Amino acid sequence: MDFAFSDRHRQFRGEVREFARTEVTPEIFADMERRGSEHHPGFHARLAARGWVGMQWPREYGGQGLDNLHVSIFNEELEYRFAPLSRCRTSVVFVGQSVIAFGSEEQKRHFLPRIARGELTGAWALTEPDAGSDAAALRLRAEHSGGEWILNGEKIFTSGAQDADYVMVAARTDPKAPSKYAGISLFLVPRASPGLTVRPIRTTGGWSVNQEIFEDVRVPQWLLLGEQNKGWQNITRYTLNFERAGIARTGLLLRLGDELARIVEGAASPGARQMRHELAQLRAEIMAARWLGYRVAWLYDQGQVPTAESSMIKVLTAELLERIADLGTDVLGWAGLARGEQAPMAGRMEFFLRSIWFHLVGGGTPDIQRNIIAQWGLGLPREP
Ligand SMILES: Cc1cc2nc3c(=O)[nH]c(=O)nc-3n(C[C@H](O)[C@H](O)[C@H](O)COP(=O)(O)OP(=O)(O)OC[C@H]3O[C@@H](n4cnc5c(N)ncnc54)[C@H](O)[C@@H]3O)c2cc1C
Repeated sequence: MDFAFSDRHRQFRGEVREFARTEVTPEIFADMERRGSEHHPGFHARLAARGWVGMQWPREYGGQGLDNLHVSIFNEELEYRFAPLSRCRTSVVFVGQSVIAFGSEEQKRHFLPRIARGELTGAWALTEPDAGSDAAALRLRAEHSGGEWILNGEKIFTSGAQDADYVMVAARTDPKAPSKYAGISLFLVPRASPGLTVRPIRTTGGWSVNQEIFEDVRVPQWLLLGEQNKGWQNITRYTLNFERAGIARTGLLLRLGDELARIVEGAASPGARQMRHELAQLRAEIMAARWLGYRVAWLYDQGQVPTAESSMIKVLTAELLERIADLGTDVLGWAGLARGEQAPMAGRMEFFLRSIWFHLVGGGTPDIQRNIIAQWGLGLPREP
């Protein structure tokens, strides 16, 4: 067992840190705030130009062949500067990784280099109005007709669909299958497809998720992703685990902890000691989460797709974010509810208090993560 980073990893951290220092500018945040978006196309293009979008993919598919510890370092350093990485996540982690895991050679060669060059972005649409945590209850229908698929139904809460080029959609292709887990397939659907309407839904975080209405949306056969009717196996074995492991926010937690420490440092109030202890406790847990994150990255590099650990890192970091935002309001008092650059911590506490549900619910709620950990990590029977 070796806990040290290699020279390559250390050098890479330095490169990303320097990039983050110079490229994550106040103008980027002002622009996103104005557009009500968590995505910044110009910044995403700069990440792609450095070869960091899909860096973990083989070179033949547009990647750099780097290991997943590089991806952890990249996320940490950029999150530490609050950099916008959302489309990197939806395109690379949700969609691209699924294409790598179970796509055809044609799909890999078409999608991955384009995602890596920043020319194509993706979103992942599983959830439906009547199929949230019980996602396998999905009803969006795909019927085969004349060599293509015709999609009808509705999706909801799709992050990033408003500006994605493709939406990876889970659809029911065999409604007569004996169980709800059978007869599901995945499709890569161009967002510009006739019959597909994307309606943004504003969240308390200020960003949008989306509702999509599919009315006779025609999808060519080659955009069926993975084996027909076997989609649920791929979703649970790969896609959801990639998603959960990929949305952990360790860099963000480290940064918020550091900023609050500087404020507590100068505080002389009677509660300052208690806040100091709470912050110290959080730091201990954040460091444990950080190392769990490195282990998850390492497991992926060994060719494993860890189900329990992916849920652990997701629920752990989301709930730590909730707790640190909560502590932030104690530390900052009413000032923690102020918005804008002039507010303490540039209004970030107020923002995290508003947007915490994004982190808690996206990728599956904490209850669902705990169900998965109970089953896959503790060997308890599956919930009925
Ligand atoms: C900001 C945001 C972004 C999202 N992005 C995407 C996306 O990009 N793509 C996508 O497909 N989906 C996305 N989702 C959906 C998300 O992944 C959740 O799975 C979904 O929101 C949960 O469904 P629901 O909201 O209908 O809650 P419900 O499933 O109705 O759950 C309600 C409550 O019941 C609890 N509950 C439900 N079932 C169980 C159970 N078996 N055991 C214990 N407790 C249970 C839940 O934990 C929750 O507290 C997003 C959601 C949000 C809020």
